[in-house]
Amino acid sequence: MPQNITHLRLYENCRGIPLDDDCWMDAHERVGLLTVIVGAREVALFLGIDESDRSRLGRVFRHSAFTTVTGPAPTTAYTWETTYPPPIVTLFRKRDPKSALWLCRNLKVATSLTRPADQITVGRLLGYPECCIGAHQVTKGIFESAVIAAYIRACGEDAEQIADALVKNRKVEMKWKHDKCLSRATARFPFVQHVACEECLTSESSPSGLMNSAYGQLVEELDHHLYDYVLRIAERSQAAGGAKAHQ
Ligand SMILES: [Zn+2]
Repeated sequence: MPQNITHLRLYENCRGIPLDDDCWMDAHERVGLLTVIVGAREVALFLGIDESDRSRLGRVFRHSAFTTVTGPAPTTAYTWETTYPPPIVTLFRKRDPKSALWLCRNLKVATSLTRPADQITVGRLLGYPECCIGAHQVTKGIFESAVIAAYIRACGEDAEQIADALVKNRKVEMKWKHDKCLSRATARFPFVQHVACEECLTSESSPSGLMNSAYGQLVEELDHHLYDYVLRIAERSQAAGGAKAHQ
């Protein structure tokens, strides 16, 4: 892919701006930033950047072909069936609206991002494979069910008791075995921005595998320090069975 020098200068100008408090997430977000700058993706989403750094990033791109927008963070799409009573389920679906920073190549897309969008819509916009978007929805459904089951075990099926436990931030014991998927995905495909699904993890030629190799090549070519760092984290993740990832 031929590189536009002006665009790459923009990437360099972002170097001193933390994109997330966590070092690994910062590296991860920087890969996302680079993919948009070189045209491999239309949009990047930054969930962990703080207010002042949002402004700094906005200033870097102010007179460029790119647009930065602060808009609502993606909302959960509740596509799964639940067997729990609606008054209890509602307690776990109330969220404070958070905001996020977007970097866009297309002004029309940027304008649309000032309105709330769910995670499926946003996943497609960010170029995530459909198989991984679908699998993520299934995992979220199982997770929600595990959380609700844990509170019912601790408080009974009384919505008021559960609401009280949530307000008091009471800890409950949860049965959840899916965290390993996250670290396995990070270890295998560290350059993609999403958590790869089980099917993708079985093959280098899966949608996530191909995306990982394309993004990895870009990063290797344009920022070899970042490339080495991401690979080191992936190796450590593989060895220790634990690293952070997000979707
Ligand atoms: Zn997949």
